[in-house]
Amino acid sequence: MASLLRLYNTLSRAKEPLRPIDSGRVRMYACGPTVYDAAHIGNARPLIVFDLLFRLLRHLYGADAVTYARNVTDVDDKINARAAERSITIRELTDGTLAQFHDDIRRLGILLPDDVNVPGRPPAMIEPRATDHIVEMTALIDRLVAAGHAYVAEDHVLFDVPSMPDYGALSRRPLDEMEAGARVDVAPYKRSPLDFVLWKPSKPGEPSWPSPGGIGVAGRPGWHIECSAMAWKHLGETFDIHAGGIDLVFPHHENEVAQTRCCFGTPVMANLWLHNGFLQVEGEKMSKSLGNFVTLREVLADWPGEVVRLAMLRTHYRQPIDWTLRGLEEASRTLDRWYEAAGDAEPGPAPDSVLEPLLDDLNTPAALGEVHRLADPASLKAGAGLLGLLGQTKSARAQAAVAASGVDAAEVERLIAERKDARTRKDWAESDRIRGALTALGVTVKDNKDGTTSWTVNP
Ligand code: AMP
Ligand code: ZN
Repeated sequence: MASLLRLYNTLSRAKEPLRPIDSGRVRMYACGPTVYDAAHIGNARPLIVFDLLFRLLRHLYGADAVTYARNVTDVDDKINARAAERSITIRELTDGTLAQFHDDIRRLGILLPDDVNVPGRPPAMIEPRATDHIVEMTALIDRLVAAGHAYVAEDHVLFDVPSMPDYGALSRRPLDEMEAGARVDVAPYKRSPLDFVLWKPSKPGEPSWPSPGGIGVAGRPGWHIECSAMAWKHLGETFDIHAGGIDLVFPHHENEVAQTRCCFGTPVMANLWLHNGFLQVEGEKMSKSLGNFVTLREVLADWPGEVVRLAMLRTHYRQPIDWTLRGLEEASRTLDRWYEAAGDAEPGPAPDSVLEPLLDDLNTPAALGEVHRLADPASLKAGAGLLGLLGQTKSARAQAAVAASGVDAAEVERLIAERKDARTRKDWAESDRIRGALTALGVTVKDNKDGTTSWTVNP
């Protein structure tokens, strides 16, 4: 079964089977957030999609046989600017943003290192931070300089793009087109307009580290080198899957490939390159720079994380998604129906009908269609579980809904007891009045055949 997973590879522009390089372990890397500001709902898309892939790999190969590294970028111009603006240290800003990020994504059912790592075993998930890998970055840069793929100029180290004959293979951009694009405002110390920064001098007040390449002044890394360094340290010179949003193909991933391959003399950095499409608002990419964004936190204030996750997975990961209220409402109704049908059942074996479409390049719309067909509660739980859904019991979900609604459960129980007394006394007017009070609190009561009364919070 495991060998049947096929994924669309941006490198070959075709679906290809995953054939792990190391037979005992699948290694996967995804470019993670830059922690200067709250994540928007578009940023949540790659996190959900690649979490689904991680879960699927764990299901197929075993929890011990998958290593997933998702980095955190904590050195960046935007980080420096934001910390200065708020008069806090860079570490305070990045730690605070990262803690908020973890709270948010946990609610989306995204696995975190603490959820999957077992003491004494090799880590299943790693969240490396760029600033903890400066030594690996300078080592890579020194190797590139020694190999003639990078040069020092005016206290910068630049990657020498023409030194790599097949530069551009991932994005398939013609070299002359890239040159024309890069020619605007070329720094005078670049030999070719395509050359990109591996290391640069720090401005006063910016974080800085001892420089590679024999440069005498302290500096800081460029953006692309951090992922080459973290992937190398945690996954090795070559690994199985590299993932990220479609906007990262060029220049970020192209430059990661150039750095890593030229450093180690390997034919590929990763065998399979996966890219998710954009989440859009009215036909435009949601992004901070366009100002058309909704933060994940804002969405999670109105909707349970599981609803957001399902709304996201209703569209195939490579297609654009139009983010709409209707999509969330439909996902919410679907989950209500599934929880009702699954009750508190324990999951059974994973149904093949749901697994098969997932093995075909993570076809989540088809997989969800199959989940809809599952009538038996144990299969429904297991089928939805493959997508990281229906993770709670029906009762736990009802309790969570009560907690999230702010309804005072003790007050509700007291009113229900009073209503029961009123009904015993056949005081129907009082019983109706109490039911009205419960409705006003946002609660629906249901009198069961066995004489008990249950209640739910209205959505
Ligand atoms: P950034 O914080 O912009 O570096 O983005 C972090 C991750 O989110 C990257 O993998 C991006 O490709 C991805 N991303 C950013 N905006 C969107 C969007 N509107 N839809 C889907 N993915 C996005
Ligand atoms: Zn990256």
